Amino acid sequence: MKKNDKVLLVHPEISRTKYNFAGIIDNEPLELEYICAMLRDEGYRPYIWDGQVEKVSFAARLRELRPSVVYICGRTRQENFMKEYAAEAKSCGAVTMIGGLHAQRCYSHFFNDCTDYVFTGFDPSPIREILRGTPPESVSSVCWKRDGKWIVNKAVPDDIRDLPRPDRTYFYQHSDRYRYLELLPAAHVRTAYSCPYRCSFCIRNRMNCGVYSVRDIADVVDEIAQIECDNIYIIDDDFLFGEERLEQFVKLIRVRNIHKRYVCYGRADFIAAHPELMRKLRSIGLYYVLVGIEAADDRRLEVYSKRSDDATNVRAIRLLNSLGINAMGMFITDLDFTAADFRSIWKWVKRNDLRHAAVSIFTPEMNTELINSYRGRLITHDPSHWDYLHVVAQPSEMSVRRYYFHYHVLLIRLFLRAWRQGIYDFIDYRFFIGSMVKNLFRFGG
Ligand code: SF4
Repeated sequence: MKKNDKVLLVHPEISRTKYNFAGIIDNEPLELEYICAMLRDEGYRPYIWDGQVEKVSFAARLRELRPSVVYICGRTRQENFMKEYAAEAKSCGAVTMIGGLHAQRCYSHFFNDCTDYVFTGFDPSPIREILRGTPPESVSSVCWKRDGKWIVNKAVPDDIRDLPRPDRTYFYQHSDRYRYLELLPAAHVRTAYSCPYRCSFCIRNRMNCGVYSVRDIADVVDEIAQIECDNIYIIDDDFLFGEERLEQFVKLIRVRNIHKRYVCYGRADFIAAHPELMRKLRSIGLYYVLVGIEAADDRRLEVYSKRSDDATNVRAIRLLNSLGINAMGMFITDLDFTAADFRSIWKWVKRNDLRHAAVSIFTPEMNTELINSYRGRLITHDPSHWDYLHVVAQPSEMSVRRYYFHYHVLLIRLFLRAWRQGIYDFIDYRFFIGSMVKNLFRFGG
């Protein structure tokens, strides 16, 4: 396949409106950096183009490089951009490849003339196999075309221990941009694929064919030691899992005398049940823990199969507060919410002194059993609305306009509270609150 040795690896922008939280959380394109490392070893010249941080347009970069292959990844909300870039790349004669989280579940969305291959797993090696000229019928986790007809090869789970170390050249070149809130720069580290839990609303546990796969913790610590960055965002869907593994993590970080700050996801039930381990994690630099509180009442937690309850959520936040770990509580506003339910989240945040809160609108994920039960209520099919900020299905207790009103009132209250408390002083509060006010009756600001 090698017409020339340039491969352009693309992560499209998140959105083209200014209301996209760019400059607040910007994620290192870790997935592309793994592919980059693999392709470099293979003798290719890979280039990354990340729409979150690039000043040069995709079209200009494409014309400048004239790559033989363009690989594009993204999430559901980026589907339209992924297709647009694939069409542009195809018009320049490149072989086009699609991958990433969205393609794992919704590969058929990319079955069009502008796409040559769709990869449906985490493992980057099928990309290498295709580039080597291995017959596609013998490559796993790829969709390809024979005589214009799409063939779907079986997706297989990847063993995360086979990943190469990522090539972080691009991250270091843009270290003024990749951040998690005030932590700038923040490098991403992945220690596991998928999640061992099965919360009903969540798509993350379906990734990697639903198989939880973890790296050896000594290898993780070794990688962290080598990253030239003081802030490490561990992007596992649930890092706080496996007491022994975490004890080992603490021990090795201490032995290697590593001094960094860490961000990770963790479940409230694990946090509440392990106060001493959380204290140790705090002592080695645990700074933010993102906790899925999801709901302010037990009934909804039960419906979500969260396997935790409100009292546990409260205990977890109290513990994190007492240890001086920043808790980022994540909530879902359900489509059956009444006005009182929106207020109950606000009251929960205040009552439990939760300093950091993020609120998503309930969004049935594409290509799951869950979305089938919402099929008749969907009010949009535009993938860019699958960003957890849009209402995608008809709420049961009020109109869509009324729903946006209550949702944005809640956001405005949370933003004003954060402003008063002096957190996130790097963001333009006036702009975001102005956008939320504009969005009070419909989304679009
Ligand atoms: S919500 Fe969190 S704990 Fe539940 S399945 Fe998803 S990633 Fe796992």
